[in-house]
Amino acid sequence: MQNFSIFSLLRNSMTYHENWQQHWRSPVPKKQYDVIIVGAGGHGLATAYYLGKVHGITNVAVIEKGWLGGGNTGRNTTIVRSNYLWDESAHLYEKSLKLWEGLTKDINYNVMFSQRGVMNLAHSLGDMREVQRRVTANNLNGVDAVILTPEEISQRVPFMKINNTRYPVMGASFQPRGGVARHDAVAWGYARACDAMGIDIIQNCEVLNFLKDGDTVTGVETTKGQIMASKVGIVTAGHSGVMAEKAGFRLPIESHPLQALVSEPLKPLVDTVIMSNAVHAYVSQSDKGELVIGAGIDSYVGYGQRGSFQVIEHTMEAICELYPIFRRVRMMRQWGGIVDTAPDACPIISKTPVRNLFINCGWGTGGFKATTGSGWVFAHTLATGEPHDLNAAFSLDRFVTGKLIDEHGAAGVAH
Ligand SMILES: Cc1cc2nc3c(=O)[nH]c(=O)nc-3n(C[C@H](O)[C@H](O)[C@H](O)COP(=O)(O)OP(=O)(O)OC[C@H]3O[C@@H](n4cnc5c(N)ncnc54)[C@H](O)[C@@H]3O)c2cc1C
Repeated sequence: MQNFSIFSLLRNSMTYHENWQQHWRSPVPKKQYDVIIVGAGGHGLATAYYLGKVHGITNVAVIEKGWLGGGNTGRNTTIVRSNYLWDESAHLYEKSLKLWEGLTKDINYNVMFSQRGVMNLAHSLGDMREVQRRVTANNLNGVDAVILTPEEISQRVPFMKINNTRYPVMGASFQPRGGVARHDAVAWGYARACDAMGIDIIQNCEVLNFLKDGDTVTGVETTKGQIMASKVGIVTAGHSGVMAEKAGFRLPIESHPLQALVSEPLKPLVDTVIMSNAVHAYVSQSDKGELVIGAGIDSYVGYGQRGSFQVIEHTMEAICELYPIFRRVRMMRQWGGIVDTAPDACPIISKTPVRNLFINCGWGTGGFKATTGSGWVFAHTLATGEPHDLNAAFSLDRFVTGKLIDEHGAAGVAH
């Protein structure tokens, strides 16, 4: 694999950047693999990467119906944090954050991970109690988190209207190590590193069905024919319910549209990530200067990669109320993704009722931040057939035993 460095950049600039190596191949699928991963989003690609890197399993195919990173991975607002309430979540997301901190070096690809801090605003006494509870729980779990007073928020974000009548800001939690990363680069970087290990990434190839021998999966039926595998992992986010049904079991997952939008580019203004869970509006600024704004989910179930206008309207009202300075900023682009939400707002990283078939889904509105850790634990689960300590609690069984991890009440929206 070509090494990216300042020297390779200089060398290639001499030849007008025409001689860069191709990042990944477009191979013809083999007849048989040790592991097939369905879905080349960040989670699927990270899983393949850690299967190769940590477990030495490289006879792997990642099968993608569209283009890699074209699902939620390329559509999110890129917020990364680990300040979740419950121990199980905090440990998993903190592992992810630690992996983020070394990812650019690990895969030799600049994922532009910027630890500019993430602020979660509190607009009521109830919000404030939740902030205090969560910050205390975070500190007990070794996760960096502090409480900011309205004065401290004003110092950091002078253009925020703290005393607005509709959404007064009473305080915030702040995770200094949180931030943002370039989502496309994450998919591209993992894909390139997978390809270098000989892992096949097969794009424009839809998995139509699962091949089974009794209750054991033996491969997949695709638009490019049958491909056999000893183990199969489903990592298809918003389409997980559809895939599970094809495999013959049901998931407690609902798929909803979730939207985001970006403004015209502005001069550097927002040097952190500001989230308001209560009003479903969060904002950061991209390196190009665009305000990156996330909205809440549409309440109806759907598979359209677009959302309703009233959701956008609500978000923009909240943004204008909190930041009057943005009132005349023009919005440039708006889009949607399909998020897979579980009743307790926590992921499912688990064995399934079908032997040798595993599933990783339910990340809902907040899985980008877990791309690294999710890949790490799912690779372990696929390689060993058993969950890693960090994902044992996130099994499908919990919806039978009732041992839910209720991040819904804790985090409001996850993002
Ligand atoms: C608007 C928006 C904002 C968000 N903001 C944030 C945020 O700020 N922070 C955060 O942490 N998370 C955020 N999220 C959530 C986050 O994007 C997702 O949880 C995460 O990217 C899921 O990654 P994935 O790899 O599982 O899924 P995806 O990237 O969706 O990958 C799944 C892939 O499976 C493929 N696939 C589906 N069916 C098949 C099939 N039959 N055969 C082959 N391939 C198939 C799809 O084409 C897709 O490429 C946001 C999501 C959206 C939509």
